[in-house]
Amino acid sequence: MERVAIYIRVSKKEQAKNKGTDSSLAIQLKKCTDYCEEKKYEVLKVYSDVESGGNDDRKGFNDLQNTIPKKIYTKVIFWEVSRIARKISTGMKFFEDLEKYGVSFESVSQPYLKDFMSLSIFLAWGTEDLKQMSLRIKSNLLEKTKAGYFVHGNPATGYIRGKNKMIVPDPEKAPLILKIFETFAENWNLSETGRIFGKTRSDITEIIDNRIYIGEVVYKKYVKDPVDSKHRIKTKNNRIWYKGLHEPIVPLELFNLCQEIRKLNIKIRESREKGKPILLFSGLVVCTCGKKMFQTRRYHTNKAGEKYPYYVYLCTNKLTGKKHSIAARKLDNAIIEKIKNSKELLELNGIEYNENESIKNKLKLIEKELLALETERERIIKLFQKEFINEDELESKFNDITARKKKLKESQKHYEEEDKKESSKDNVENFEKLKYIIENYSEDDVVETRKLLRLLIKEITVVSKKPLKVNIIFN
Ligand SMILES: [Zn+2]
Repeated sequence: MERVAIYIRVSKKEQAKNKGTDSSLAIQLKKCTDYCEEKKYEVLKVYSDVESGGNDDRKGFNDLQNTIPKKIYTKVIFWEVSRIARKISTGMKFFEDLEKYGVSFESVSQPYLKDFMSLSIFLAWGTEDLKQMSLRIKSNLLEKTKAGYFVHGNPATGYIRGKNKMIVPDPEKAPLILKIFETFAENWNLSETGRIFGKTRSDITEIIDNRIYIGEVVYKKYVKDPVDSKHRIKTKNNRIWYKGLHEPIVPLELFNLCQEIRKLNIKIRESREKGKPILLFSGLVVCTCGKKMFQTRRYHTNKAGEKYPYYVYLCTNKLTGKKHSIAARKLDNAIIEKIKNSKELLELNGIEYNENESIKNKLKLIEKELLALETERERIIKLFQKEFINEDELESKFNDITARKKKLKESQKHYEEEDKKESSKDNVENFEKLKYIIENYSEDDVVETRKLLRLLIKEITVVSKKPLKVNIIFN
């Protein structure tokens, strides 16, 4: 039987609304004890806090946390995660302790939070509150940008933060920026300009395209599409620029001339240039041959000898020495399509939906082989009856069949589990989280986002190459 500690918490404001049995605290307690009764958990102690707003008013919580290492309780019950902690860091510390000492937990109102993993994903991304909060921050940034303030971290080279965090031209580097524009306007060549100033081609591209230098500020995060209400990243050419409050470094005419040159150059290069890959999935993808695939840069060389990078997912099979590659953009698109469409497909088909034909086929194959073994057994018995084989031979043949049968049964079990995982209800939630991550992913957060994806996804399997099909297996 589970030995349970219940934790309840309300703010003073919440508690003041109603008194006695109608108070928030009493209601929370009743929900938790009813839950424990239904589950037949033995409640040993109730810890509670009424927060007054000061710092030292979480005695109940602190007592509970101190008791965890003593392993008196096998489980902690609470109404919802936000009751444990308002601050994610406090909450994470608490749940890390639970994990460490093997104490489980249940959130009465959030039954899908079963373990530390789902919880950490939930805390980082899933909650409506957090969603709302990030939207609020975003819209504040937008308002500030519209008003002409630069809001995105460090300003571009050529500007520094001045008084009141306003950006001002850097007396040292601003003249260099102007010189870069002038040089490009003469030689029309990004790489050449880069060489002159000791920068890379992409550095120069960033600079030439950056409207900050003509006194504008950008709002470049995910933006809600007014047509379908989806959050999308604005591509480079689509970022929204507003008139800024800071001083321009480059005259508008020079900037526009450089942009015209860029357009001409892009037209020439367009047929060759490949899109930038999404680094999120590198190392999560497993090739049809079973090896992990990593994103690798390769180069095209044109007739003039100029090199252009493109990206592939590459596996290297050490056993066979063979390498397989898939264009990064194609595979990224396939993965994203899968993520975006999966939830709808799962729901449409009442979660019975199962796309992975290869697992179904493997199971069919195993079924056939098991039948074949049965037939073989009967054949051997007949051989023995007709005295074509002796007892020893019979026994060794039987042993062989038993071993093969055992192996087949094992892989049957394995694939049945995989199959279940495929169509489980959890997948709906997982895909929902993935979708949220992908839609809100910003290149600034690539490191954090990758961590989250690794918590959520076990692997992304390439099921077939032609047509390109992927399958996402969750942890
Ligand atoms: Zn391979």
